[in-house]
Order: sequence, then structure tokens, then C-alpha cells
Amino acid sequence: MDQKILDELKQALKKKQARLRGVIGGIAKKEGLSYTPKFVEMGEDTEAGEDEAEQYAINMATEEDLEPVLAQIEHSLEKFDNGTYGVCEKCGKEIPVERLQAAPEAEYCVEHAEE
Ligand SMILES: [Zn+2]
Repeated sequence: MDQKILDELKQALKKKQARLRGVIGGIAKKEGLSYTPKFVEMGEDTEAGEDEAEQYAINMATEEDLEPVLAQIEHSLEKFDNGTYGVCEKCGKEIPVERLQAAPEAEYCVEHAEE
């Protein structure tokens, strides 16, 4: 795969990871305290409108929902170091770039995707 595309996907994953960590941290705080602090700032670096649907989903989600997503993203980031990123974990075939661009944390090719 093109190194430039790989770098872009890695950046996308890191951005998602940072955002999820922030949200999960915010939820943990909210649940751990008797008062409700202002919900975690979603950051000014979010390109306008770009991730609105995703943002909404994250805002509506609970820590329980988000932990596995974060784990999957971190797992994907590890694969960059192992040199196994972008390869289906079931059959070892390359995952199509378009699929990774839509969901950089994808672990399986279209054929083996569970959803
Ligand atoms: Zn596969």
C-alpha cells in the first residue's frame, strides 16, 4: 500500500483515538463525581461538519460502548508497528483502501467483515 495513504490512515486513527479517550475520560469523570461537569470539549480541531454524525454517536454513547471501539483502534495502531496493518485478520488478504479510508480501524476484508 502507498506509504502516503498509510500515513493518512494512521493519522485518522490517532485522531479518533484521542477523541475517544477524551470522551471516555469525560464519562468516567461524570460517573465518578456527584456533580455533572461540563461535557468534555470536543475540540476546535474538528473540521466543521465533517464528523457530525460520528460526533453525535459518540456523545450519545456510554463508556461501555466506547471501550471496545478504542481497543480496536489501538489494536489497529499496533499493527502499523508490526507491519500487518491493512491485512484481513481472517484470510490475510489486503483490505481495500476505500474500506480503510471509510473505517481505518477495519480488521477484516469485505468478505469477512462481521457487520
Ligand atoms: Zn478476509
